[in-house]
Amino acid sequence: MALIVQKYGGTSVGSPERIRNVARRVARFHANGDQVVVVVSAMSGETNRLIALAREVAAVPSPRELDTIVSTGEQVTIGLLCMALHDLGLEAKSYTGAQVRILTDSAFTKARILHIDDAPIREDLNVGRIVVVAGFQGVDRFGNITTLGRGGSDTTGVALAAALKADECQIYTDVDGVYTTDPRIVPEARKLDRITFEEMLELASQGSKVLQIRSVEFAGKYKVKLRVLSSFEEGGEGTLVTVEETNKMEQPVISGIAFNRDEAKITVRGVPDRPGTAYQILGPIAEANIDVDMIIQNLGHDGQANVSFTLPRNDCDRAMEVLEGVREHIGAQSLHSDKNIAKVSVVGVGMRSHPGVAAMMFRTLSEEGINILMISTSEIKISVAIEERHLEQAVKRLHHAFELERAK
Ligand code: ADP
Ligand code: ASP
Ligand code: MG
Repeated sequence: MALIVQKYGGTSVGSPERIRNVARRVARFHANGDQVVVVVSAMSGETNRLIALAREVAAVPSPRELDTIVSTGEQVTIGLLCMALHDLGLEAKSYTGAQVRILTDSAFTKARILHIDDAPIREDLNVGRIVVVAGFQGVDRFGNITTLGRGGSDTTGVALAAALKADECQIYTDVDGVYTTDPRIVPEARKLDRITFEEMLELASQGSKVLQIRSVEFAGKYKVKLRVLSSFEEGGEGTLVTVEETNKMEQPVISGIAFNRDEAKITVRGVPDRPGTAYQILGPIAEANIDVDMIIQNLGHDGQANVSFTLPRNDCDRAMEVLEGVREHIGAQSLHSDKNIAKVSVVGVGMRSHPGVAAMMFRTLSEEGINILMISTSEIKISVAIEERHLEQAVKRLHHAFELERAK
């Protein structure tokens, strides 16, 4: 008998029939003697619909009220899934994030989980009940409803698995595992049987939305056995996210390619080349709670510098406003923004022992006539910013150049 946390994403609960399918799968695990905690997302499209609805009423909705609204999507699904389970003759009980006390900080729309009270869930499990928890939401210490950022139900699943010391956390989605890149963009992409936490963390942080980055952080920190599986197929092993690296001899140099369209670039031109300039530019951006990713500074002939950085596209207008406010003080000549950029990253722990990955990446892009706007690296990742119109071509060519379609 095992304690299993299963998380089902939006597409997997996208219709009443699919919800009944989920109920049947849960029932099979229960019949097998397993204790099952189920975390569900809102039905597909529902969160987007709720956000759009909020924006129709207020161009810039209050983050607290926005969380109150978008959290209702998941509340509908928990009720529906419990009813489907009751229909199969099973005892099941739904909990919102607040009811199960998923305590978070008060950062509305991107809250972090601080604590989970596992006692009520254990009581239910011990009397044979199936517990169904709303993903993506929590409650802060003042009783406000919070949400965990887009894709946050993955994090609810893993955090519950950690709190309950579950034997496994299974993330059921619309693909049958983690692939070498998004199979919707590269049909030749190959499913990975295993991937290390480190690699999954890089892929998630560089834009592979199959798992929310915080769920991978949680799983790594609390040693949760994490598996990604298809909710539409039976019997697959999915992809196991693991701590061990596979046999070094067989280690592929690159495990996957991630990409992100949610990028913009800001360039501050003609700033004095003196100590403190980078701080004067990026300090106010950080104070506005905007995450900066890649940064470069070029020196001109005239002792003046240009500073460019990338940031989430949604934050671009706000960042420009912030910089406009400090431009004279910094002594900058002009500000420019570009919302038509994207980022491509190659990721792999094998990179540590194989030089030449960057050269291969740059050569492949140059052969395609794709200009590299910025570069950033870590020990196991190389990212480049390029024009968005070249994104799909870049991902496809790099996937082929690194022979990712071939079984290792
Ligand atoms: P869910 O609603 O179940 O949480 P998501 O849409 O958040 O599902 O995540 C699954 C999607 O992630 C897939 O449909 C796929 O298009 C995308 N994806 C991006 N990168 C990858 C990858 N490397 N492997 C598998 N899927 C990926
Ligand atoms: N429903 C939320 C979203 O669409 C959370 C999730 O699906 O994980 O982002
Ligand atoms: Mg998701």
